[in-house]
Amino acid sequence: MTDKTWHQRAAELPLDGRAFIGGERRAALDGQSFDKHSPVDGRRLAAIARGQAADIDAAVASARRAFEDRRWAGKPPAARKKVLLRFADLILAARDELALFETLDMGKPIQYSLAVDVPATARCIAWYAEAVDKVYDEIAPTAANALALIQREAMGVIGVIVPWNYPMIMAAWKLGPALAAGNSVVLKPSEKSPLSALRLAELALQAGLPEGVFNVVPGYGHEAGEALALHMEVDAIGFTGSTRTGRRMLDYAGRSNLKRVYNELGGKSAFLVFPDFDDLARAAKTVAGAMFFNQGESCNAPSRVLVHESIAEQFVELVAAQAPRYQPGDPLDAQTVMGAIVDATQLNTVMGYIESGKAEGARAVTGGRQARADSGGFYVEPTVFDGVAPQMKIAREEIFGPVMSVLRFKDEADALAQANASPYGLAASVWSSNLDRAHRVARALRAGTVHVNQYDEDDLTVPFGGYKQSGNGRDKSLHAFDKYTELKTTWIRINGA
Ligand code: NAD
Repeated sequence: MTDKTWHQRAAELPLDGRAFIGGERRAALDGQSFDKHSPVDGRRLAAIARGQAADIDAAVASARRAFEDRRWAGKPPAARKKVLLRFADLILAARDELALFETLDMGKPIQYSLAVDVPATARCIAWYAEAVDKVYDEIAPTAANALALIQREAMGVIGVIVPWNYPMIMAAWKLGPALAAGNSVVLKPSEKSPLSALRLAELALQAGLPEGVFNVVPGYGHEAGEALALHMEVDAIGFTGSTRTGRRMLDYAGRSNLKRVYNELGGKSAFLVFPDFDDLARAAKTVAGAMFFNQGESCNAPSRVLVHESIAEQFVELVAAQAPRYQPGDPLDAQTVMGAIVDATQLNTVMGYIESGKAEGARAVTGGRQARADSGGFYVEPTVFDGVAPQMKIAREEIFGPVMSVLRFKDEADALAQANASPYGLAASVWSSNLDRAHRVARALRAGTVHVNQYDEDDLTVPFGGYKQSGNGRDKSLHAFDKYTELKTTWIRINGA
């Protein structure tokens, strides 16, 4: 596929921003919409339905009806599996279209939308489909005159609210277990990336998911998002987004029906490099790859790099040498490795952090500037700050852009103290060739995922989520079923036993 072809295909792509409720496309009830522009070049993409409380009411009512009449929850697990496997196949068949939605909406390079986002979404739906008829319930070890069954039941209506950095994957991590378990879903995608979610709902219907089981209402967080999280007929919220909005989710639940809230929130993940590690070049290549992938807009990006003072200078040079590979380019060019920042607001946030790093005395050894401004889109150079002190803003706060902060440590205790001195605890990484040290440090790191001598392993088989203010729920793996099912105990008396 040539560069020109992706541009042409983007120009020809049909874009429909209407909501998807009860199995059909609908404009917002009050007729309002907002214009969605692309961060690739600023072009206007489509009018997106601006969902409000009334639209959320309609979607939740449709989801509730579908749940209560058991049109989906009442199907045997093997039947749900069949539909969801077909859904996964349809996602793969729509690969080019879905990949273009992701790239146009939020600016990631088309090669990764194609190679990562679309297949990972399909794989996730298929994985939970495959799992659902292989998970058994329990019988408790009680006395002989009773039988206690412990069964999982679908919870009801699940509200899903997701961010824009991996629009489809974040949705799939919740849709997979929620739908496989028999729930109905109302999804509120980010206002910055609504297109792929709307198309996913159409594909699910085509795959045989009954009407009303999967609804999508686009709109703003403080309108559609708030209405969904406050709704009395929503049983749980699967939320991924910022820690600030995660706090609101808990508040909404407290103010409404005490719905379950599963928060997957921000991060400031630490990457610890010890002087005994025998391949610094590999560590440098890995940290650059993980930091600059997706324009640095990854919740688990290793944005706090802690290096032993004896090797810090050498390590910073090795990391800076990786920067040319990540210069931003046209996201619709199949060779581009780093694309556009999602919008002007996020661009200003990232540039604000870069300015604050400079003002507080850190040194940008590479990058630090906006790029490709003449494209009409929003681009930032891959940026590495050396000489970062723990109290600086760029060491403490999530930037969510291609900006890495390098700090130094004296010894293992200092490294651990700095790594754990964060309100976040999503991921961490330790690099050491000393087996004892690697295990010791991995155990002491307060993070949901710890990597040892690598950063890129990931799989649906393992849970993903954070300690501390990085959240409470866990996406992925069989553990995700816990979020979208209730545990019911049924006691049965056995006479004569
Ligand atoms: P955000 O919190 O601004 O928005 C996330 C979603 O919440 C969007 O759909 C938005 O419309 C909605 N929302 C915003 N305000 C709301 C409100 N008042 N009421 C209800 N809904 C509201 O986050 P973002 O900028 O879209 O995403 C970036 C954040 O997501 C980063 O902090 C990142 O670390 C985090 N993230 C976490 C994970 C994880 O798995 N832990 C994964 C990806 C992204």
